[in-house]
Amino acid sequence: MITKPKGTNDIKGNDALLWEYVNNVVNSMMSAYNYEFIRTPIFEASELFHRSVGESSDIVKKETYDFKDKGDRNITLRPEGTAGVVRSYIENKEYALPDAKKYYYNETMYRYERPQKGRLREFTQFGVEVLGSGDELVDAEVISLQYNILNALHISNLQVNINSLGDNESRNNYKEALVKYLTPKIGELCEDCQERLKTNPLRILDCKVDKDSEILKNAPKTIDYLNKESKERFEKVLQYLDYLDIDYQVDSNIVRGLDYYDHTVFEIVSLDNEETKSNVLGGGGRYNKLIKELDGPESYGIGFACGIDRIVEVLKTIDLYKNIQKEIEVYVMFVSEEEKLHALDIVQNLRLNGVMTETNNMNKGLKGEFKEADRLNAKLLVILNNEDLKKGLVTIKDNATKEEEKVDLDEIVEEVIGRL
Ligand code: AMP
Repeated sequence: MITKPKGTNDIKGNDALLWEYVNNVVNSMMSAYNYEFIRTPIFEASELFHRSVGESSDIVKKETYDFKDKGDRNITLRPEGTAGVVRSYIENKEYALPDAKKYYYNETMYRYERPQKGRLREFTQFGVEVLGSGDELVDAEVISLQYNILNALHISNLQVNINSLGDNESRNNYKEALVKYLTPKIGELCEDCQERLKTNPLRILDCKVDKDSEILKNAPKTIDYLNKESKERFEKVLQYLDYLDIDYQVDSNIVRGLDYYDHTVFEIVSLDNEETKSNVLGGGGRYNKLIKELDGPESYGIGFACGIDRIVEVLKTIDLYKNIQKEIEVYVMFVSEEEKLHALDIVQNLRLNGVMTETNNMNKGLKGEFKEADRLNAKLLVILNNEDLKKGLVTIKDNATKEEEKVDLDEIVEEVIGRL
């Protein structure tokens, strides 16, 4: 028997219903906020991720799915959404447009991680990228959009943990102070952190192994190294979040795992139970340097990504979703070939009028059809029989009250819609 690869999931049954529900909420919220859907390739030139996510990041060092295609090109399966969107923005010279571009995506990502709860090798993220605007209002919009989507899904006790890395100058000053502080103590941290001290010291702050160590807890804080401009910028973002009633907490240990962030960085958690607390649902940040880094002009960018797999796990713990089930509106019943021909027509007409309809597609007898209609939670039954059809009639039955009535065959669609 062939089984699914390690770290992947088949999304089906109740999970698929929750998944569909999340997608609906995401789509309608993105549309209300005027974000444009974008779909970028599932694979890109490896160089794109090496240059954007960063050579020293865990993702590029250990987690990418890399291969050579038949044309000997180095290809990587997309491990995150920002790089592809920014590549497309630059490739299509959209930086020359007078307005900011506001994109959203909803796609599978691939990281060769050690699979565990909430950590898969294939997972799905929805996210946004706003390109071309450095206004603090955009930071607040992106953070509140992420917050409001999770809120609309009824995930309670949400908290945004936010920090600022500041501009280049602030970041460099901070880096210097951090290296000075960590150098005499580095032997007490994990091997990866010892390596990071040379390649990317900021990353030490969000090391999964050493995250609870006193050394990291007492490390210098980014906030204390922000220059005047960066500080004022951060204060403005927080002020806007206050106006939007977003629950946030300034957390100076947040630097995020990717290389490209500057200024605002954030994560969103649900504090409802320990399980979800340790599972960050999403995060993001500003990445003004990235567009230039990928051969575009000086510009601005900010985005977030949220993991749908993790969100669905949280929804499963919420009462509201425990009994989620698919309900069919109408089940059309027939037995003979003559009845079947009419059924085909009625079923198509109902479906084209947006009525969720199912019919006897396993050649069942009446008894089997009634059972199937119950299993599908059909609200109405449309029952065809030869005698009635000769008179141009068909039976509609309410599957809850069991009341039934014969109606005109020609008016069946209107009758059904009127009763739903
Ligand atoms: P990141 O792109 O690493 O900042 O992650 C953003 C969000 O994507 C996380 O908060 C998770 O919800 C989700 N995510 C990241 N990596 C994984 C993974 N390996 N498996 C499942 N979800 C993930």
